[in-house]
Order: sequence, then structure tokens, then C-alpha cells
Amino acid sequence: MSRGLGRVQRAVLAYVLSEPGGLSDIDGTPLAASVTGLARVVYGVEEPSDAQRAAVRRAVRRLEAGGHVEVHRLRVGRTYTQQRAHPRFWPPRYDRRLAVCTGEDGCPGCAAGDRPSMYFNADVVAMFIEHYGSLAEADRQLWRATAHGWHLYPVPLPRPADDYRTYEVEITELCVRRALSAEEHSQAEQRAQEFVRPYADAIRAALRGR
Ligand SMILES: [Zn+2]
Ligand SMILES: [Zn+2]
Repeated sequence: MSRGLGRVQRAVLAYVLSEPGGLSDIDGTPLAASVTGLARVVYGVEEPSDAQRAAVRRAVRRLEAGGHVEVHRLRVGRTYTQQRAHPRFWPPRYDRRLAVCTGEDGCPGCAAGDRPSMYFNADVVAMFIEHYGSLAEADRQLWRATAHGWHLYPVPLPRPADDYRTYEVEITELCVRRALSAEEHSQAEQRAQEFVRPYADAIRAALRGR
């Protein structure tokens, strides 16, 4: 059965065949061992490294493909928080940026897809004065702009802070037990139903009594 298996696969299989977690009170089947628990046993360390856990995970997936083990993903009762953009349907907002075209490949206005304008009138001059804050600086920039023109191009505004939500993400881990036969599975199903029956009966009785 275990011919052709690698060292980690053999160690994992031997461990889960020993049914280290005992049997479920509910359906009588072997309880699953977590990848972290397996890595502790396989490598004989208290805190397995990420590489060791990854090696066990790979071994488990190969054993699963070979029909040797059953794999389930179970919550391990820990969570981490994650920041995600809150999905909204309105498009991102833009600001307009005034810039003198550099006439070179790296010009941000040209890169944004804006064709430089060579149009100059009183309104353009007023816009330069307002943007650059002083007549002297506006004059300097207007003079530069006569070479390749100027851009007024859209730049996306960063999302406001309230566009983000914090999510609690539950950590799950692969849990492994030996493969069950079809007969074991049907027995487990029957035992689980017997286990649940008194609770289901009590709930039904309580509902009738209302
Ligand atoms: Zn199963
Ligand atoms: Zn440009």
C-alpha cells in the first residue's frame, strides 16, 4: 500500500493510520489530524517551520490523490484582520493636474494619454497663475510650455479612508485522516443519525408543546 511513497508521505500515512486523535463520539470515525500537528510529529519539533508545513501539505495532497487519506479544511479557531476596499459601484474620483509637457518619453501628462495643448489665452495664463501661486513662477512655466505645450490631465484620487472595511478572516487548516471504506462511511452516517436523533426529537417535542 505504501510502496513508492516518499519519506514524508510514509511518516504522515503511518501516523494517521494509528488514528492518533481517537474516534469521533458522533459518528465513530477517526478524528482528523492538522497539518501543523503532523509536521510536529514528522519533524519532531514543537514549532514546525513554514517549509516543513509546506512539505507535509504536499505529502498530504499526494496521499489524497493516491486514495490513502481523506482531507478536509477545518477552522482552527484563530482569525486575522484584513483591510479590503469596500465594493462600491461609483467609479473612482479624479483630480485634474496642470503640468508643462516635457516633450520626453517620461512626461506624466503624455503617459496619462493627454495630448499637450499649445493653446494660450488669458484664461490659460490665469490658470497658470492660480496653479503656480505667483506671477513670476507662472511666467516661467508658461515660457517652458511654449516648447512642448501643457497638459491638464486627470489623476485618480486615493480612495477615502471610509471606503475600506476591516474583515475578520478565519484561519483554516488542512486536516487529514486515513481513507475510510464505503462501508465505514455508511456506518458513520448511521451512527451520526443515531447521535443526532435524541436532540432532533427533543426539538420536535418542544415545538409541538408551544
Ligand atoms: Zn469523508
Ligand atoms: Zn507631455
